[in-house]
Amino acid sequence: MDSCAQLLLITCPSRWPRLPALGEACLKAYLEANEIRTDVLDLNNYCYSFVNDELKRLWELPVYPAFSAGLWNHLEKKYRFEFESILSAIIAHPAKTVGLSVWHSSKIFSQKLALYVRQHAPEKRIVAGGPEVTLSSLEKNFSAGNDFFYADYCIAGEGEYNLLNLLTKLLQTNVNYYDFLETDPDSLPAPDYRQIFPKPYRYPNTRPVWMSRGCIRRCAFCVEHALTKRYRQKRPEAVVRELNALHSLHGVNHVIFYDSLINGNIRLFEEFLDRMIDARTAVKWEGQLLIRPDMPARLYGKMKQAGCYNLFIGLESGCDRILSAMRKGFSTNDAQDCFKACSDAQLHFEVSLIAGFPTETQADFESTLDFLKKNARVIPKIAQVNPFMPLAVSPLLKDSGKQVICESPDLVLTRVQRIVDVCRSNGIAVTPAYVNNLMAQTAGFDTETGSMIIH
Ligand code: SF4
Repeated sequence: MDSCAQLLLITCPSRWPRLPALGEACLKAYLEANEIRTDVLDLNNYCYSFVNDELKRLWELPVYPAFSAGLWNHLEKKYRFEFESILSAIIAHPAKTVGLSVWHSSKIFSQKLALYVRQHAPEKRIVAGGPEVTLSSLEKNFSAGNDFFYADYCIAGEGEYNLLNLLTKLLQTNVNYYDFLETDPDSLPAPDYRQIFPKPYRYPNTRPVWMSRGCIRRCAFCVEHALTKRYRQKRPEAVVRELNALHSLHGVNHVIFYDSLINGNIRLFEEFLDRMIDARTAVKWEGQLLIRPDMPARLYGKMKQAGCYNLFIGLESGCDRILSAMRKGFSTNDAQDCFKACSDAQLHFEVSLIAGFPTETQADFESTLDFLKKNARVIPKIAQVNPFMPLAVSPLLKDSGKQVICESPDLVLTRVQRIVDVCRSNGIAVTPAYVNNLMAQTAGFDTETGSMIIH
């Protein structure tokens, strides 16, 4: 622990526990480069490390709202000693400011932690930021005093410039602070993953990294454009240097690009691939690929040569009418060409789908099933099938004045199940956790026993 630290950044549960948080590592690196001493505590992984295997299993489910909501109470009851020990360490930490990167899944835990800090260390100031603050701040009738009443300051938008500004200029004032200042990617140092009270991760030699922020698309259901206003990319030379340093200094051999897409700028993406090939970089990588009709075929082979071991591709639908309504920017023919090119280059990839997008008819849905059957030979795996979720600041809801008619949940779940069945009977693998994921969306959580309650 740095006894001079001015800021303690805490990653609250529940978040995916297998890797450290990228955002906090980026903030620490940037603030320390600007002489703000910063400690990071991954409270999510710290608590995950002391719970039993059944709770660990529930923790890994990607969407389980009742678990997120009940976890604090469960830890207080069943793991009192371990939980109180780490809470005491937070209170005793010398930093005057506590920063919380709030996600939807950590919203309730963050609030409880902030109130705990308020009660036991009222002299500390609390800053809330992260995607939940950013998205909430764009909603009509938003009021920080209601949604984030526990925070002295709220930051919307990217954290680096905003947090530095807040800590160096404004912290004496007693106002809530919103800004969408964007960072210049080339001005940012590599993420710094050092932590206080670190616990081992399940993927010890893997790190999350990034080479771009934002997205070049504006799909109807997605809120990415609200989180980051503009698409920007780091210099490929800097990205390759970062990966090499992770390997030589920290033994990292796999990285996951958390970018919305890795091929937003085709010229820079190709330069990245060429540099990885030339440098014979030992680090293998995965990332999200956008289906782009304008992507040259040669890039698929280069991705393989450059160490790509997996791609995540947002197909979302196998029906051209729905793809157009979603504003995905590609057709089913483009998707087919992309999947075939991946297969020819021996690139493993996983696909996501959305069931029940507004106006999806039974015939549209059957087109998706037909697409999957037709392309089963080249699609290795379905990573996710999500029921359509209406998100308040998505283009679809904004453009329609929030008047979106959704299919009935029962019908959507039936469609999800049919997709699974068609995939399995046609040899396409399906991520097993996602079936539980569906159940977990509506399941309860017993805070006494730490078990799932199926309704
Ligand atoms: S769904 Fe993917 S491609 Fe579309 S806007 Fe969101 S991040 Fe970009």
